[in-house]
Amino acid sequence: TSPAPDGRALHSPKISFEFFPPKTEEMERSLWETVNRLAPLAPNFVSVTYGAGGSTRERTHSTIARILKETRLTPAAHLTCVGAPKGEIDDVVARYHDVGVRHIVALRGDPTTGIGTAYQAHPDGYQSSPDLIEGIKKRYPDIEISVSAYPEKHPESPSLDADIDTLKAKVDAGATRAITQVFFDNDLYFRYLDRVRAHGIDIPVVPGIMPMHNFKQARGFVTRAGTTVPSWLADKFEGLDDDAETRKLVAATVAAGQVQKLAKHGVDTFHFYTMNRADLVFAISHLLGIRPAGAQKAA
Ligand code: FAD
Repeated sequence: TSPAPDGRALHSPKISFEFFPPKTEEMERSLWETVNRLAPLAPNFVSVTYGAGGSTRERTHSTIARILKETRLTPAAHLTCVGAPKGEIDDVVARYHDVGVRHIVALRGDPTTGIGTAYQAHPDGYQSSPDLIEGIKKRYPDIEISVSAYPEKHPESPSLDADIDTLKAKVDAGATRAITQVFFDNDLYFRYLDRVRAHGIDIPVVPGIMPMHNFKQARGFVTRAGTTVPSWLADKFEGLDDDAETRKLVAATVAAGQVQKLAKHGVDTFHFYTMNRADLVFAISHLLGIRPAGAQKAA
């Protein structure tokens, strides 16, 4: 592919990266190595998650603020409305707006009593994700809103149709992009997309891709979030519990295969759950034809 004027390969897919706020100084150093390694790939945006029930409110904010200050990346701040009164959430949004953030990934969040327990909205809080989106949009029409989407339905949802009705309510409230929960079977995604479109939803539904650096650990949490881990995938990691190096190669191969197949079927935008690590995501982006802007110019 020939380079575009901005140095990127023409027709290469658009990408975005998700990070989580670091807990320690060492994790902070490692996150920034990752950010600096991935930044030249010129992602559309980079998002920073919000710990369950707002537990990382300050850390998410300071990570976003540092991205704004030290890079040319466009940050998107995740925000959940669970367990907090409206006033607190509104303050978080106002602080983001003040420092220049114009993109929020707006979520309901998990019950504060743990995944699998019944969700209860805060009595003075936003009652649902569409309610949160409306609240943000009313005060800040210039903030772009992305939301979650669940190709295998959210575990609390009675049916896939009910789940897609929620997605529709989020779009009606002002969301303009959905990012999917991780999935490993591309057919699931394409079937889901057909049903989403049949519900009259026309926003981009960007596949969320997770390279499984640590299969055993990741398997646990993606399963709890409702993602099916196929047996063919488990087989690929069998016997590698003590072999991180091979696991890395296998994880990169699997995720690269997944995105290349999606791209072959016309998907042109990907969101990577980086787990704050650059190596696999960098390699997978390379295989999608994405090159660091500087390298293109040098070539
Ligand atoms: P929604 O989309 O509002 O709802 C999901 C489904 O549950 C819908 O089908 C809806 O109808 C149903 N539902 C909602 N409320 C109820 C109810 N009371 N009773 C019955 N059914 C109900 N979590 C974090 O804590 N921090 C993050 O930064 C974060 N980022 C995420 C990013 C992405 C791209 C995704 C996919 C998930 C993320 N999550 C995050 C996880 C998310 O908070 C959980 O999945 C949570 O359980 C649902 O929030 P939501 O906004 O996705 O829910």
